[in-house]
Amino acid sequence: MDLGIKGKTAIVCASSKGLGRGCAEALAGAGVDLVLNARGAEALEATAQAIRAAHGVKVTAIAADITTEDGRARVLEAAGQVDILVTNAGGPPPGLWSDWSREDFIKALDANMLTPIALMQAVLPGMMERGWGRVVNITSQSVKSPIGVLGLSNSARAGLTGFVAGTARQVAPKGVVINNLLPGLHATDRAASLDGGAAKAQGISVEEAKARRIAAIPAGRYGTADEFGATCAFLCSQHAGFIVGQNILLDGGAFNSTL
Ligand code: NAP
Repeated sequence: MDLGIKGKTAIVCASSKGLGRGCAEALAGAGVDLVLNARGAEALEATAQAIRAAHGVKVTAIAADITTEDGRARVLEAAGQVDILVTNAGGPPPGLWSDWSREDFIKALDANMLTPIALMQAVLPGMMERGWGRVVNITSQSVKSPIGVLGLSNSARAGLTGFVAGTARQVAPKGVVINNLLPGLHATDRAASLDGGAAKAQGISVEEAKARRIAAIPAGRYGTADEFGATCAFLCSQHAGFIVGQNILLDGGAFNSTL
């Protein structure tokens, strides 16, 4: 399917690895020029080079922490006119509801709520003026179904979800659509580190912890960054103009509900 976005420019945050990289690859496959971002310059440049070589699109790599004002300013400046924004950042650390201080919450809110909001505030006016734009926020299944050990993520992402619900409907009349993609378990470094955490907490091997987590997924496996990226690219396509303010769960059926 032609996604109809060849030649557009996208910022894909936190994209040297994992789900962000999956989104970047799929957008590049649709002919979109990219500004990629991550903190680690080496992995980021390697990803940028691999995408240039595979897809022949323009790729600019900005090594920066997207949760800082300076990092966001550098990424936005490199992009110039932004047609597509994919927000993403590392997830907060696991722990217990009783562990976290005000500082911990502020850090999680900064990374997983206020950073995507600041980026949207920066790019939405231009998109609305031009009459076209797409924003996809990578959030989490924890928005629909809380994950006990990820209380910081549950909290911050719920705040972002509320902001998007109201904002998406205010910018839609100008041809700008905002949606959230909610990953369930996907085979990335983040999932491997959470497997390790679960193994430690339960006193079992990492393999056993992973097998138990997979047993709770009807699809019988973790998702892949490629399939996640393909869904993201569709939401950024010309065909997605009537999908407004939705929370799309990619979890292999793990969330048990009829609707
Ligand atoms: P990942 O494989 O660990 O990749 C994270 C990427 O983000 C890396 O490129 C990393 O590069 C970059 N990054 C992290 N913090 C950053 C920052 N402050 N500024 C710029 N770049 C940053 O993680 P993932 O699995 O793709 O997860 C992506 C998001 O989805 C996370 O928020 C995660 O919590 C959420 N999520 C993932 C799953 C899953 O199963 N994978 C499930 C639910 C939710 P550097 O470290 O070099 O910066």
